[in-house]
Amino acid sequence: MSSSKRVWTVLSMLEWATGYFEEKNVHSPRMSIEWLLADVLQVKRLDLYLQYDRPLSVEELDKIRPMVKRRASHEPLQYITGYTDFMSATFRVTPDVLIPRPETEQLVEIVLEQFRDQSTAPVSLLDIGTGSGCIPVSIKKTYTEWYCAGMDISAKALQIARENAAANETKIDFFEADLLNIQNHSDISGRNWDIIISNPPYITNDEKDALDPQVIDFEPALALFHDSPVILYKKIAEFAASQKASLFLEINNSLVQDIHDTIASLYKTVNQACDLDGNKRFIIAGKPV
Ligand code: GLN
Repeated sequence: MSSSKRVWTVLSMLEWATGYFEEKNVHSPRMSIEWLLADVLQVKRLDLYLQYDRPLSVEELDKIRPMVKRRASHEPLQYITGYTDFMSATFRVTPDVLIPRPETEQLVEIVLEQFRDQSTAPVSLLDIGTGSGCIPVSIKKTYTEWYCAGMDISAKALQIARENAAANETKIDFFEADLLNIQNHSDISGRNWDIIISNPPYITNDEKDALDPQVIDFEPALALFHDSPVILYKKIAEFAASQKASLFLEINNSLVQDIHDTIASLYKTVNQACDLDGNKRFIIAGKPV
């Protein structure tokens, strides 16, 4: 991308950047440049194929160059463009929040399905460790009568979550609070919750080395790692059981037995469910003991 005289077209950019990303061992090289180009040109990815010969203007090139550079250093596309899709909505994401994952969409779907017959009842739901706010915003968009809230220890994450709630025209209460002191936060502990949902940091320090650099170098450590995730699950489950709430958790499948046993001491019915890759990924608990 050096020669200033060269006329760049959609096709030549797609081809050049694909090769460049391949050299740099970037995941999904072709899809990466399609995604970035579609963002800069404000067209759908597939529509790029109808505009192969479209020349790129100086302004467009000035926008795409730094994006290509960031992608070459393995930064996730979602942070480069600043957004991602989750369920049927668009969410702003920055390095202060975890990029929402398809597994979490599945968790949301499980809640929606299990509570279908209470979709217009005055149900109250709390998402613990809300990050981008993707969970409560998606649920509130579907079951508009519900009271949905999110809490997080990170003020910066909550700022993004609030933006996402506003952009998706949903009214959600967000609380800055530490799970380990949840009882002291009267806005949270003083209300009766019907559903507690959480996708807490569940990767242990021992598992760090196995992670993709795209995750470990760019996504917030606070959202990913914990020395002892089972302690977090225990705390969440104790709070949920004290509220007689139904519990929906995304889990680390290598900790499934420990987490299951912890929850089973507090809940009568504890079920596991797999993600689309067949890994034990969710624990759902009904009536507390
Ligand atoms: N609830 C958010 C999500 O599932 C954030 C989770 C987190 O930061 N651990 O994407």
